[in-house]
Amino acid sequence: MGHKNNVLWEKHRLYLPDMRSRAIHRCKHCKFFVAIRGKAETRRGCVVNIKAYGNLEKPVPPVIPVMDIIKRVGLEGLEECLKHSDPDAQSCGQFTLKQ
Ligand code: SF4
Repeated sequence: MGHKNNVLWEKHRLYLPDMRSRAIHRCKHCKFFVAIRGKAETRRGCVVNIKAYGNLEKPVPPVIPVMDIIKRVGLEGLEECLKHSDPDAQSCGQFTLKQ
């Protein structure tokens, strides 16, 4: 039986566009990927796990002072944000395209 008559093959094809868009997006294209500004340096990180930003209650600014993050989620939360600092990392399931 060729692919054209194979129902499973047809169903799989429906998933391909979504998988493709996930594969091509990187953290740097995501709304939650921001610059975190400290006194001495600015680093990149992801704020999706900070409630106010993650549920889009507040607009996500492109630059966030480090103290704002510490106030909201503490030092552990900050560390979590900074774990996702690679702009070229493949996007996760919470990816939201930057406007
Ligand atoms: S793709 Fe995921 S890990 Fe990367 S910045 Fe967006 S929410 Fe964070």
